[in-house]
Amino acid sequence: MLPFKLVYHERYDLHLGAHVFPAQKYRLVRQQLLERGIAGEEDFLEPQPASRDQLLLVHTEDWIRKLERGRLSYQEVLKLEIPYSRRMVEGVFLAAGGTILAARRALADGAGFNIGGGFHHAFPDHGEGFCAVHDVAVAVRVLQKEGLVKKALIVDVDVHHGNGTAGIFGADPDVFTLSIHHFNNYPAVKPPSTIDIHLEDGAGDADYLARLRPACEAAVLGFRPDILFYVAGVDPYQDDQLGGLSLSKEGLYERDRLVFSLALRKHVPVAVTLAGGYARSTSDTVDLHVQTVMALNESMKEWARRW
Ligand SMILES: [Zn+2]
Repeated sequence: MLPFKLVYHERYDLHLGAHVFPAQKYRLVRQQLLERGIAGEEDFLEPQPASRDQLLLVHTEDWIRKLERGRLSYQEVLKLEIPYSRRMVEGVFLAAGGTILAARRALADGAGFNIGGGFHHAFPDHGEGFCAVHDVAVAVRVLQKEGLVKKALIVDVDVHHGNGTAGIFGADPDVFTLSIHHFNNYPAVKPPSTIDIHLEDGAGDADYLARLRPACEAAVLGFRPDILFYVAGVDPYQDDQLGGLSLSKEGLYERDRLVFSLALRKHVPVAVTLAGGYARSTSDTVDLHVQTVMALNESMKEWARRW
């Protein structure tokens, strides 16, 4: 049994058909966790979809209505880069509910893991880059509104800059945003995060970890957040089709451990979301997401031994 809960819903699958985004990965991650005995059925929780009121803490009424009613313009669908369907909308509303639930569990258990979400390119009034609803921003605002947290730190290690996150929280002193990403990559326009680490083409493990560590320490120790949201994209992987960095599987594991250990050592609860992963082989993407669960498990065990 894991020392934290995994949040998953079978309808996370966005049903995109043949698309570079492997939307079936959520199911495959859960399957592999069970098959390898890393998790049991008792470790999983099923979320409710985020409510309309919760979504409206971040998004405009107009955008949510368009998603609900299928009234997106051609331009809006182009920007979203995934086909519109009822099931896609149901999937992203559930993913937002999942990140809220993972965050609640993080406050109760020290960590919570949504096997979904991390839709960091979504903006209040439109979607971009496969992201229709910003689940992490919604979860931050729900916890703040309920008085459960004041200050949140978002550590975004997806290979793409967290433009939606930066756009939503840019002027908010209670939310610290850290994005480490490949600079010459999507999105073209990168609104400033609290800390942006722009990496050169082909940066590898050593370079990546050397840049991430001090920034993450500055954020956790200096800002002293009440919760850390980890946007755990695995697209910095060397064989990723949409990446541009050269991290190995071992390097990605070390990256996850670095962030988790740092937060847990300082008693900062951690809520994880999956975000991107587009390896040439979907099984690599699934292995890498499973590895993040293993890294959190290892860090939690280490933390429990110490305290
Ligand atoms: Zn990405």
